[in-house]
Amino acid sequence: MLGLEDTRVVDVSFDEEGLVVDIKPTWRRPRCSECGQPCGSYDRQRGRTWRHLDLAGMTFKLRYDTRRANCPRCGVHVERVPWAETSSWFTRAFEDHLAYLAQRCDQTTVGGLMRVAWETVGSVIQRVMARKQPEDLLEGLTVIGVDELSYRRHHEYVTVVVDHVTARIVWAHRGKNAETLKAFFDELGPERCAKLEAVTIDMSAAYIKAVTEATPEAKLIFDRFHVQRLAQDALDQVRRAEVRQADVEDKRALKKTRWALLKNPWNLSRIEQEKLSTLPAVNIRLYHAYLLKEALAAILDGGQINVATRKLDEWISWARHSRLAPFQKLVETIHKHAAGILAYVSSGLSNGRTEAFNGKARTITRRAYGFHSAQSLIAMLFLCCSGIHLEPIFNYPKPAVGSPQSTH
Ligand SMILES: [Zn+2]
Repeated sequence: MLGLEDTRVVDVSFDEEGLVVDIKPTWRRPRCSECGQPCGSYDRQRGRTWRHLDLAGMTFKLRYDTRRANCPRCGVHVERVPWAETSSWFTRAFEDHLAYLAQRCDQTTVGGLMRVAWETVGSVIQRVMARKQPEDLLEGLTVIGVDELSYRRHHEYVTVVVDHVTARIVWAHRGKNAETLKAFFDELGPERCAKLEAVTIDMSAAYIKAVTEATPEAKLIFDRFHVQRLAQDALDQVRRAEVRQADVEDKRALKKTRWALLKNPWNLSRIEQEKLSTLPAVNIRLYHAYLLKEALAAILDGGQINVATRKLDEWISWARHSRLAPFQKLVETIHKHAAGILAYVSSGLSNGRTEAFNGKARTITRRAYGFHSAQSLIAMLFLCCSGIHLEPIFNYPKPAVGSPQSTH
């Protein structure tokens, strides 16, 4: 019934939460948790328990007095047990089931259904990922994207690398400076770096430095997603400055435009459309800022590269003469990085895909709030965005003869 290998049942009892089953490994001498060798026994820890998959609505715990193995090679370590990772308080079957749920459900559902603290889920996912992750995700990369994710209310950052061909996450590390990204290229190694054809990044100097140093041959592309976000930020700055200066009535009208201004025109609701239609009369400067944002998006929509180049030139001169300080500042950044921005148009990369990945990654980051380490967040990102397929754990009755069976 347990579906555990190399495990023998010694006794069955109940505690206040459910069933407690005393078990033992089938081997007699303790095995070193580092190297797996049978060793001499050092001492014993009484009554350690592990959660296994629930039974008939009750919790199901396994109990065993773990020994410490005295390994001639590795020293004294707690022994290896067949049903769980050495550091875990859960069986592998329980952990795999939990990871399956965490991949698909929200925090409340996972914690409530499995009766575990959300914080615990983070460390469980880390162990599951260590078991399931393919050996080398960095093999065969040609077009990659680098992005940063903020978490813990924007106090901390994680740099992620995405394979644009498969739309999967392949690398992640805490931090967002040039050193962080350099660690990725170091791991990739010079041979695989040389195979990179293009790298999409935001316009941060730290990333630019790391990419150009590690892979000078690869085309540097500035993600339109980031370029447009800068334009949205500039527009929002204009809006706030105008609100500050407006009289009471205009203030009210302007305040309501915030979300309408940032949306794509075709996503506007009727009410938002009406708000925007009065904008030229209420505040012409803000209206110009809005047109600048939209025009930039239209240029990045693609088409022929020579047309986009000409239009971007026009846009730069228009923004320069706009007398809108945030756009005048933005235009210098865009002018400086025009080649990389236009490289996006000719790259044929799908913005939808990047944006979809970004949206997903941000949802996961929000969901991972409450995990206490960057490692847990990273494990969650890999769990959900690296193409790992998990199944719920089901067991079936087996005849009592023969050796114990596997969990599947
Ligand atoms: Zn050992």
